[in-house]
Amino acid sequence: MIVARTIDELNAARRDLIGEIGFVPTMGALHVGHLSLIERAKKENGFVVVSVYVNPAQFGADEDFERYPRREETDIALCRAAKVDLLFMPKNVYGKDEPTISAPPIGASILEGEIRPGHFDGVLTVIMKMLHLIKPKRVYFGKKDAQQLWLIAKMVSAFFMEIEVVACETARESNGLALSSRNAYLSEGEKNDALKLSQSLFEASKLIKKNEIKSSAIIEAIAKTLAPLTIDYVSIVDREFKPIKTIKKGETIILIAARAGATRLIDNMWI
Ligand code: AMP
Repeated sequence: MIVARTIDELNAARRDLIGEIGFVPTMGALHVGHLSLIERAKKENGFVVVSVYVNPAQFGADEDFERYPRREETDIALCRAAKVDLLFMPKNVYGKDEPTISAPPIGASILEGEIRPGHFDGVLTVIMKMLHLIKPKRVYFGKKDAQQLWLIAKMVSAFFMEIEVVACETARESNGLALSSRNAYLSEGEKNDALKLSQSLFEASKLIKKNEIKSSAIIEAIAKTLAPLTIDYVSIVDREFKPIKTIKKGETIILIAARAGATRLIDNMWI
């Protein structure tokens, strides 16, 4: 495995990868969720490139950029064990006064975009840079960050980029908690509270199986389960992120965001 720390090193190593490339962009502190994306990329491509870059542009001024977990050595070891071909770990990918990508208002003004102004502009800009650098055939994203996945697929399509955006299932702990680098912030008590996110989604799924299709009833049930946490939103949308009043199989995503102590957590379920 080659570890490239500068853009020159990346370009040099990239030139030697002749064949289909699967790319997994991450912010590091790698966990089983990231590894499941890498594993899938490994199966579907000749080469796998992973990036580890805590992207300053996607953090708000009052967010956790400084304390976001950084575990460089462990990340390198995990990528090596996963047989990654090229690991890109740049210090910085930005210049001065550069053009940036703006998320469309329809995506930037709702849910994560509403609560984290500018967040998706930062995400789209860094992913655009990474896709141009890595030039992959396929890029892998987790369904856990559903709104991000949706906006990236929209960007790739809008800019006629010949890259397949692959949506990967959410990896969970055996107790249901969706894996996230931010789980490292949680105390034992908060971890227990955080379980309510996945619990509320599993309960919602049971209600839907019993033919409850009214979004309002499902949202109410979820909010009840989430009560020990501070809820940012519970929302039921279609695949284009428009709120829907009734749940339709194959067309619905239930999204939740809540805080356990100071830690913001998101989870969702695709119906
Ligand atoms: P991050 O390092 O948090 O920016 O995540 C990098 C990629 O891993 C994104 O595409 C995430 O959606 C994905 N990811 C994060 N957590 C999980 C998980 N629990 N299961 C599957 N994919 C995940």
